[in-house]
Amino acid sequence: MRVGIPKEIKAQEYRVGLAPAGVRELVARGHEVLVQCGAGAGIGVTDADYAAVGARLVGEAASLFAEAQLVVKVKEPQPEECGYLRPGQLLFTYLHLAAAPVLTQALCASGASCIAYETVTSPEGGLPLLAPMSEVAGRMAVQAGACYLEKPRQGRGVLLGGVPGVPPAEVLILGGGVVGSHAAMIACGMGARVRVLDRNLAVLRRLWRQFGNQLETEFATAEAVERHCLTADLVIGSVLVPGASTPRLVSRELVGRMQPGAVLVDVAIDQGGCFATSRPTTHGDPVYLVDQVLHYCVANMPGAVPRTATFALNHATLPFVLALADQGLDALRQDPHLAAGLNVHAGQITHGGVADSVGTSY
Ligand code: NAD
Repeated sequence: MRVGIPKEIKAQEYRVGLAPAGVRELVARGHEVLVQCGAGAGIGVTDADYAAVGARLVGEAASLFAEAQLVVKVKEPQPEECGYLRPGQLLFTYLHLAAAPVLTQALCASGASCIAYETVTSPEGGLPLLAPMSEVAGRMAVQAGACYLEKPRQGRGVLLGGVPGVPPAEVLILGGGVVGSHAAMIACGMGARVRVLDRNLAVLRRLWRQFGNQLETEFATAEAVERHCLTADLVIGSVLVPGASTPRLVSRELVGRMQPGAVLVDVAIDQGGCFATSRPTTHGDPVYLVDQVLHYCVANMPGAVPRTATFALNHATLPFVLALADQGLDALRQDPHLAAGLNVHAGQITHGGVADSVGTSY
């Protein structure tokens, strides 16, 4: 099959659909891989790196899309790219169509088969192509929190790990899933006093098995959230209720009673956020103050570390890319978890959640 890797054109997006290691595996299986010139520039990968593993470099996106039978990307196609898609072509990328009726319509009109990373499932019941970005965001949350706790950045002036004779900072993590457990790992590693609250006992038991006495776990009652917020230096919001907006665990009034200079990192902001005072921010302008409490609410945290994020994403997507290149649409018949990723096919919405959200039957 002819596989195309375009350069991402969405603003501030530096990741790439497939790094040279993945291209090499496709070429070894007899596939032809077209890579748009400059596709890897944002992560320090050159055209020569791609050429060295057997890719054919293509100058223009239009010709790459015209030749490719399978297009592997990172972000949803921008309007210009939608115009390049054609009936029978396979598109494999993040789509997030539930919140994008215009894009959904454009993909239906293209006639292409569009497989969304975020709805591919795993036998364990998780979302394997979302998990790598949660891992990145969870680890980054502590890094960002530690940075904004510094006084010149308007934080409390607290060092996460303390020093001998001075106690460490208190880190409160709301939600102990993928983001929360990776945040916990980094916060423990930096020597902070870490507490994770969750409403799922199985999650609390898993954390206890994983970390032992390195951290405290507690059931997330409203009382526990309030009690720990009042003494926390850093609170990380990493709650998710699948298919629903994030529950607001921390009220406006509670934020007002927190320690001045405390930092809130709301990773769950992409689903609405778990602090009543949260609103989305960008890497260009990541924080704002409410009652002297610093809020960091960047909706695409992995975008700041595109090199790590690209490799992490590629490792999760590559087995599916290989299956699609080898078998085309038949790969979906062989694997119901990959089939769960099919959002649009031959002009129709093929995913219940997307159809419900954009108000179309399917
Ligand atoms: P996950 O499903 O692995 O974990 C969510 C956890 O929240 C679960 O353990 C669940 O039991 C817990 N939870 C649900 N309701 C709760 C409540 N009322 N109180 C306490 N805990 C509760 O999800 P995840 O992969 O860790 O993702 C968490 C959030 O981070 C999602 O909204 C995701 O979209 C977001 N995210 C954001 C970025 C970003 O750049 N901002 C990047 C990746 C993920």
